[in-house]
Amino acid sequence: MNKEDFLSSWKLVGRGYRYHENDSGVGSFTLPAFSEMPWLAHGFSARTGGISTGHLASLNLSFTREEEPRAVTMENYRIFCDAEGIPVESMVMDAYVHGTTVLRVDRNDRGKGYTFPPLPDCDGLVTNDPAVTLMTGHADCMAFYFADPHTKSIGLCHAGWRGAFDRIGREVVRKMLQEFGSDPADIVAGVGPSICGNCFEVDEALGRDFADAFPATDCLMPGKRPGKAYVDLWMIAVSQFMEAGVLPKHISLMGVCTVEDPRLYSYRGDNRQTGGMAAYLRILSPDV
Ligand SMILES: [Zn+2]
Repeated sequence: MNKEDFLSSWKLVGRGYRYHENDSGVGSFTLPAFSEMPWLAHGFSARTGGISTGHLASLNLSFTREEEPRAVTMENYRIFCDAEGIPVESMVMDAYVHGTTVLRVDRNDRGKGYTFPPLPDCDGLVTNDPAVTLMTGHADCMAFYFADPHTKSIGLCHAGWRGAFDRIGREVVRKMLQEFGSDPADIVAGVGPSICGNCFEVDEALGRDFADAFPATDCLMPGKRPGKAYVDLWMIAVSQFMEAGVLPKHISLMGVCTVEDPRLYSYRGDNRQTGGMAAYLRILSPDV
């Protein structure tokens, strides 16, 4: 793929999101292209409507925040699941380590990471089992959503800058090919709320690494401070989806920045004193 091809494809990528909130303030962000598929349910949690306090207020869904008892975070999950119609016992959680391991899970994995010991280290999950809800944890990191309407299989992953650099998005698509025989041309892909290109400031050297690894993109922008640069991770995401064979017209970005939107926690925006959000994706019925 050359620069010209990428930039013309980039224009075809969908942008936008919907947001809904219940009476208790429990909110969720969705991708219109995924909402259009009646066999699926998906979302991305907002930080409101939960029971956490202080800098974790209020719907913290990260179990790695030591300042909060696990029972409080578990209750937040129950609140979020109730609002979104997710059976609590159906959840299977990633055990993210900023790697590129993608695991196939099914009903035998239900509860892992919540009421049962976690899965082995993994940043991505795929399934074709309607009995499970895939869950991944996020603060500024991207959530990649994948759905194949043909084989009725799904994938979800956590993609921080390391995972995005190492092309975890391509790994999820590969796993769906391997496990379910998915044709990448059928796969619908999307990106949840995450740090945007105007906020993701990195050392210039790392910025150059991104530009070298994704030469067709315009992902690198000059920094406002010496020795710094900005990287557009949304372009990095789209680039690796297309490398994997996903069609530009089947890709969409919510375009919501976790640093800038007060409805969301942000690792960088809140100066590392923050909670975590969750993305979910589940098959409602493969027969719809
Ligand atoms: Zn931003």
